[in-house]
Order: sequence, then structure tokens, then C-alpha cells
Amino acid sequence: MSTRGVLLVLSGPGGVGKSTVVSELRNFENFYFSVSATTRRPRANEIDGVAYHFVSEDSFQQMIEKGEFLEWAEFAGAKYGTPRMPVVEALESGKNVLLEIEIQGARQVKRTMPEAVMVFLAPPSLEELESRIVNRGTDSPERVAARLALAHEELAAAGEFDHIVTNHRVEDVVEALVSLATSVKGK
Ligand code: 5GP
Repeated sequence: MSTRGVLLVLSGPGGVGKSTVVSELRNFENFYFSVSATTRRPRANEIDGVAYHFVSEDSFQQMIEKGEFLEWAEFAGAKYGTPRMPVVEALESGKNVLLEIEIQGARQVKRTMPEAVMVFLAPPSLEELESRIVNRGTDSPERVAARLALAHEELAAAGEFDHIVTNHRVEDVVEALVSLATSVKGK
């Protein structure tokens, strides 16, 4: 039985409910939640260092040049990246790691860490996804339009993932993720 933690990558279209799943998963022990760096502005309820490390374009660029990211990508006009070291250290200490990232980043993780368990979170329907993106209320109309277009592209990537979990109920998604981590770790 492996003592190394399991790297779970949770991806899927923006607006599908990934961050709600992550907050629920926080109630489970032995998971490390990666805190990404981003160049986008914080939303009203977001705390620096908790939701994200909010950084300038310059700092983000420096992090890229120093090779500090496990993966990074541009999404709807901002850059997002996963700092590598905390992930590696958590895995080595036996913790499971959850990355909640968009599709281009997920593809990079699969290339560099093929043992990663790739999970695509799918919406119950396209209509529901669209209404979630439109009704979020925190983004400008331009960003909403960009996010809708991206969501359609992202849905097309579902087949690239090891597992597709449909977000009917958050509790069920969390349970599916926990049992995936447990079953992979047991191997
Ligand atoms: P939001 O701006 O709504 O917080 O996130 C936008 C998208 O960026 C979401 O799909 C989220 O999963 C993704 N994201 C967050 N952090 C990272 C990261 O470190 N890398 C990548 N590739 N995507 C990320």
C-alpha cells in the first residue's frame, strides 16, 4: 500500500460548481488544497492567501520564469497557476492533494504527473450551467460572455478525463472524490 498521497485534479467548465465541492471537501481530513496564484482581481468575499494568492502580472511572470508552477494557464483574461512545491511536499508527506483548475492546466498536470487522477465535473444540463454563469452576478457583461463561450469549449474536453462526475448533488460529488482517493491509495 502506497504512503504517498493521491493527486486529484478536479476540472470542468467554469460555473459548474467546482469551488463549492472544494469547500465541502474541506471537512475531510488528509486533503491538502492547493492555493493558486492569479492575476485576476479578488472578488468581494475572497481573502488573499486563502482563495488565491492575488499577484501582479510582473510577479506572475517571474514565477513562470523561475519554474515555480506545476501548471499555469490563461482563463477569461487572467492568469492562474498552481505553485509546485506545496503540492510535491504534501504528496510526499502522504496527504492527498486536490487541484481545482481549468482544462488547459489539467492537461499539463496529466503530462507532467501521469499518475494524477483526472476528474471532470459535469453540469446536470447545459441550461443549468448557463444560468449559473449568468446569475453569478460578480462579473462584468463582457466577462460573462467570455465565460459562456469558454464553458462550451470546456464541455467538449470531458472525454479526456479518467472520470466524469455529474454535479447533481454536492454531497455525492464529494463522496465520489473521497472514495476515488481512497481506492487509488489502497493500490
Ligand atoms: P475563478 O476566476 O472563477 O476563481 O476561476 C476561473 C477558472 O480558473 C476556474 O475554472 C478555476 O478552476 C480555474 N483555476 C483556478 N486556479 C487555477 C490554477 O491554478 N490553474 C489553472 N489552470 N486553473 C485554475
